[in-house]
Amino acid sequence: MKHIILFGPPGSGKGTQAELVANKFNLKHLSTGDLFRHHMKVKNSLGLKARSYIDQGLLVPDDVTTAMLEDFLPENDQPEAGIIYDGYPRTLQQAISLDELLERFSLGFVNTAFSFCVPDELLIKRLSLRGKTSGRSDDIDLGVIRKRIAEYYKKTAPLSEYYRKKAILTEINAKGNIEEIALSLELEIRRLSI
Ligand code: AMP
Repeated sequence: MKHIILFGPPGSGKGTQAELVANKFNLKHLSTGDLFRHHMKVKNSLGLKARSYIDQGLLVPDDVTTAMLEDFLPENDQPEAGIIYDGYPRTLQQAISLDELLERFSLGFVNTAFSFCVPDELLIKRLSLRGKTSGRSDDIDLGVIRKRIAEYYKKTAPLSEYYRKKAILTEINAKGNIEEIALSLELEIRRLSI
């Protein structure tokens, strides 16, 4: 079973690209952000807990997020295909937990991690634009947008080192438009023969 990770700052386009790659390569798309938004919509206890962090632009604590993944994995173990991870892991502890869970459920290992690189000014521009139509509360307030970007550099960016050491890191220039990024991602996936 294949496991492909996409990580990058908010607004780097990983959600859009994960969906395209999932369709093209017949992968299950896991977006922890979408899962949280679903729980928030139905207002269950997980949703209420997540909202208190998401609305401030902070990451939801690792134990809450990883428990969600622990439920997701056994329900989605299609050995012939794989999973594209959009927004998980976002901390070193989550990366370690993912490795442990894949081993525990005998689902293989992380094949590759794509790091999306985009300058901050472009992220802010994209997120502010998205905020006009996405209906996402965390895309509207500039302070929250900046907080999310700061959280990325502090907690998620160190994943590069983690996956570089495992020799499975590929950086993707994600400054271009959707089609350009999709093409470079597809070429990399084929080049890596994942
Ligand atoms: P996203 O849709 O991926 O931009 O995620 C929206 C928000 O959900 C993030 O800003 C975080 O607050 C929260 N979130 C999503 N995935 C995670 C994760 N793996 N760890 C912690 N918080 C997360």
